[in-house]
Amino acid sequence: MEKQRVALLGLGTMGAGMAANLLKAGYPLAVYNRTRSKAEPLADLGARVCDTPAEAAKGAQIVVSMLADDAASREAWAGSSGALTSISGGAILIECSTVSPVWVAELATLAKDAGAELVDAPVTGSRVHAEGGQLNFLAGGSAAALAAITPLLLAMGKEVQHLGHVGSGAKLKLINNFLCGVQAASLAEGLAWLERSGLDREKSLAILKGGAPGSPLLQSLSTRMANSDYTINFALKLMSKDLRYAHDAAAETGIDLTTATSARALFERAAEYGLGEKDMSSVVELVRDSPRS
Ligand code: NAP
Repeated sequence: MEKQRVALLGLGTMGAGMAANLLKAGYPLAVYNRTRSKAEPLADLGARVCDTPAEAAKGAQIVVSMLADDAASREAWAGSSGALTSISGGAILIECSTVSPVWVAELATLAKDAGAELVDAPVTGSRVHAEGGQLNFLAGGSAAALAAITPLLLAMGKEVQHLGHVGSGAKLKLINNFLCGVQAASLAEGLAWLERSGLDREKSLAILKGGAPGSPLLQSLSTRMANSDYTINFALKLMSKDLRYAHDAAAETGIDLTTATSARALFERAAEYGLGEKDMSSVVELVRDSPRS
């Protein structure tokens, strides 16, 4: 079967790997990134590099977005040179960024008004999973749209979970990242405390990793924190954003995410400390550097 014509907006840590995998799978691909230089390596792999989201989306049957936040997504879809200005009737739009459910609902309406259909499909997994085609998509949308895009999603990932109507993916993704963000913050404090306490760090960490708190997140983050290896997987500033969106989304259901509030405060202080562009594991440096009272 002929592959659908695809546009992908956003070639950051995640989008670059996703685009490369679409090209590898044989999809005709147009790409857009605000900083054009990040798109050039994909031209060598066969992508058509465009100057605006509208140019990339023109003629595409599927348009995928993988951008930082609500503001970036809004600009790429609904800005003056946004994808919605050139979208073809019947196109399927896939919002893979971690954005707020409120924006997803608005975008779904804008898509419908433009004769297209939106699926929200944020991902779990990080840079290595994006590069290796091992992402897990948390999708919300109609069954027909999901069926039409599943082969494309599986060119970038290993699983597609259909959670219900549009917006379902965004909601579960924020619950997922709320749990991750709170755990990452508590790990930073626990590890810095452990280091100051005179305990054998490696032996103590092995016990924690093998015990009840030893989640996959704690296992991978504790190693990076212990080695002070802040190679970018997930930028720290993105976790502040996710905890903010999670707090607001939960508040709409009457749930006050008190632990998200304190975790977010830690990540925001870390960003002010200059760690925003580093990997989120670098949050431990803020705690390590806190004064001994
Ligand atoms: P990233 O490396 O920071 O890339 C962000 C992308 O958004 C870049 O293409 C950037 O363009 C663009 N962008 C930012 N602000 C913009 C604006 N105002 N207008 C237009 N474009 C803008 O982020 P990422 O790690 O790829 O993450 C992308 C999304 O996936 C985020 O929503 C993130 O929360 C989510 N996510 C990330 C991970 C992870 O492990 N990294 C895992 C799951 C989900 P420039 O290149 O010009 O800056």
